[in-house]
This record gives sequence, C-alpha cells and structure tokens, in this order.
Amino acid sequence: MGSSALCHYSINKGAAFLGLGTDSVRVVKADERGKMIPEDLERQISLAEAEGSVPFLVSATSGTTVLGAFDPLDAIADVCQRHGMWFHVDAAWGGSVLLSQTHKHLLDGIQRADSVAWNPHKLLAAGLQCSALLLRDTSNLLKRCHGFQASYLFQQDKFYDVTLDTGDKVVQCGRRVDCLKLWLMWKAQGGQGLERRIDQAFALTRYLVEEIKTREGFELVMEPEFVNVCFWFVPPSLRGKQERPDYKERLSQVAPMLKERMVKEGSMMIGYQPHGPRANFFRVIVANPTLTRADMDFLLNELERLGQDL
Ligand SMILES: *Cc1c(COP(=O)(O)O)cnc(C)c1O
Repeated sequence: MGSSALCHYSINKGAAFLGLGTDSVRVVKADERGKMIPEDLERQISLAEAEGSVPFLVSATSGTTVLGAFDPLDAIADVCQRHGMWFHVDAAWGGSVLLSQTHKHLLDGIQRADSVAWNPHKLLAAGLQCSALLLRDTSNLLKRCHGFQASYLFQQDKFYDVTLDTGDKVVQCGRRVDCLKLWLMWKAQGGQGLERRIDQAFALTRYLVEEIKTREGFELVMEPEFVNVCFWFVPPSLRGKQERPDYKERLSQVAPMLKERMVKEGSMMIGYQPHGPRANFFRVIVANPTLTRADMDFLLNELERLGQDL
C-alpha cells in the first residue's frame, strides 16, 4: 500500500484494522504544496518489491486535511496501471468539487480510479454522517467480501432484483439510510444549486486570501488551491523579528493562545496545527454556504483585536 505523507490518518488506521499492519503502509513523498510525487511513488513500489513485498494499492488524496492539496491523479493512475495496482482516491474532503464545472479540473484523472471515497457531509454540508464509497467494480465485490447470507434476514426469493439490496454488502448490520439525505438535498438544491455552493466557497476563499495579503501581521503559509486557508497571525511583538533564535517557538505559542481567547470570548472557533517543520498556524475552512465577506472581515478583525497585546 502506498499513500502520501500528508494523507489522512484513516489509511494507517485501516491497515491496522485489516490486520495488514501499519508497517505495510509506505509513505510516498509530497512536494512543497502537499501533492504526492509520482516519481517517488514509483520508487517506493520498486523498493517494496525489492524487499519481497507485493504492493497492491495506492491511495491518492483529493483535498488533504490541512493544506487542501490535490494529488496528480492522472500521473498516479499511470503508475497504478503499469504495476497492476488498485487505484483508490480519498476524495472525502475534495470530492464535492466535481460538482463545479469551474473547479472540477482539480480532480482530473479520478475517472480512472478503482474506488473513490466521498463525504457529502463535508463541503456539501449534508447532515453528519453521509459518506459514499464509489466502486468501478461490476462483479458485486462488496457482496463477495462482506456477504454472510444470513437467510433469516437477506431473503433471495423476493419479487424484485435482490442485487439492489445493500444490507449484506456492508461491514456492519443495521445502518441508517444516509444516502436519503443526499438525495433529498440534491433534489431540493439541484445540481446548479450545489455547484453554486462550491463556486461560492472558492470565491469567498479568494476574498479572504486577498484580505490576508493586505493586512499587517498576517502571513499565508501558501496560496491555497482549495478552501483551506492556512496562515499565521504574527502579533506586534514578533513582527520583523524573524531572525531571533526563538522566533519559531514563540510564533508556535500564538495560535493556541488566540484559540483559548476566542473560545473563552465565545466569538469564533478556528482550528490550528503544526505541520512538518512549520510552527502552529491557523486553518480556516471556508465551506459553510451561509458565510459572507462580512464574516471574513470579522474573523481577521477579531484576530487582530485578540492578539494586539501579544
Ligand atoms: C474527513 C476525511 C476522512 C475521514 O472520513 P470519515 O468518513 O469521517 O471517516 C478521510 N480522508 C480525508 C481526506 C478526510 O478529509
């Protein structure tokens, strides 16, 4: 199994649950924008084979958790094809972008995947939880893997096509019909309504990014390609002090301190995290369809207010 350095922890957790062991997950290098490097994937496959392992699955990510990076799916699909490996795309976060004609190019190549995970409960704001696993397979794979043919529950002598029944295809037993929420929302909003939400989120992200660039003390971690806006708030006492030996350590303390203040104040909740060698930075996700430019202004003003004495 191969996955980028910035993939979701669920990949390792899945390997542990399946009994493959986390040592079976090989970490593929990502570039400075957080995208999997296909050449390193190729290299990891060769290394694994040289050790006598049989690499069988690559998990690419469309929309990584922190940076919102999209892996180069076409190039990764080429590698999978060359080595006969299963091509999975973890599009839990970024999959909804496919609904936007303007931005769906970020997922070019996803049509070549063997499986895709997509969470409409994230960017589309469907009620938690609503997660889809999409499979290219037409051989009833899930039934073959998970089916237990409990005859007292899953009768085969029904009046309709029983291959439509999902009960015996899943890992669990009784589950809610989560897809109904998505179906109803899609019916209510229409494809265009959902597309508008995505486009609006991208547009508002752009507004926030341009504001951050004009304000003193705000520093982008990088130009975002998705709706994850990662930035530092550099308080007055640290401005222009990048050369100080304890700069990074002190900058790292700013986000947790401001988070505590905003929570106690009850004004905002913004996530932060360290990332590789980078000091703690804020990560604003511009996804809620009711957000406006005024909210973005408030967010930046509030950070300035809460951090003015730091
Ligand atoms: C949220 C997320 C997951 C986890 O999805 P759940 O359905 O909540 O388990 C996996 N991968 C990525 C990239 C995510 O953003």
